[in-house]
Amino acid sequence: MNENLIDIYIMGEHHQVPDSLTILQALEYAGYRLTRGVGCRGGFCGACATVYRVNGDYHLKFALACQTRVEPNMQLAMIPFFPAHRPRYRLSELKGTAQEVLDIYPELLRCYGCNTCTKSCPQDIDVLGYVSALLRGEIALAADISFDCIMCGLCVSRCPAELVKHHAALLCRRLYGSRLAPRSTHLAQRIAEIRSGKFKAELEQLKNMDRKQLQELYAAREVEPEE
Ligand code: SF4
Ligand code: SF4
Repeated sequence: MNENLIDIYIMGEHHQVPDSLTILQALEYAGYRLTRGVGCRGGFCGACATVYRVNGDYHLKFALACQTRVEPNMQLAMIPFFPAHRPRYRLSELKGTAQEVLDIYPELLRCYGCNTCTKSCPQDIDVLGYVSALLRGEIALAADISFDCIMCGLCVSRCPAELVKHHAALLCRRLYGSRLAPRSTHLAQRIAEIRSGKFKAELEQLKNMDRKQLQELYAAREVEPEE
């Protein structure tokens, strides 16, 4: 295989690695066995938030190591994790008001509105947008804007006020899901039907089918009509 090798530096030590690798793969290529700061490898778990620099550029850069390609003269350093101040609360004791979120995360009121967090988010989330929604008391909107957050903490690492807004947003999503979202009546109805044993015979019949019968049944299933 023709590989274009480039120079990178890991903890100051020179290595040559193929330019097709991600930072995570390059660390392993160089012989590092990763047991922390690595998770799904697909950009979803947020475990591999990483700091790096490139020679000649004084900026400190932040990225997900599994989603970022190595580049020539990259300087990589391992950090164990992005620390986060995480207050404890009992969800079952909360009513779902914005004031409760601010009582748990009062430091959010110190937000400068600088928008650095939005620029650092690998998920392209409007981070300042959800912080602002939260400060206005709009929990449902904060939950909606932050829905794709993978809790990587990069927005905290760049925040001059070190605000842990991703945890506050997670609380908003929890409150929205458990307190504020409209209840699904058809779901409640279906659960009651399941509990009453309505589908028991049908389930038994399915369990006794072989693979071919199941495949035929699946292919002939009634697909939900588009609205
Ligand atoms: S909002 Fe913050 S914690 Fe969530 S994905 Fe974006 S940078 Fe990561
Ligand atoms: S980086 Fe911090 S201070 Fe700046 S807008 Fe985001 S939360 Fe507010």
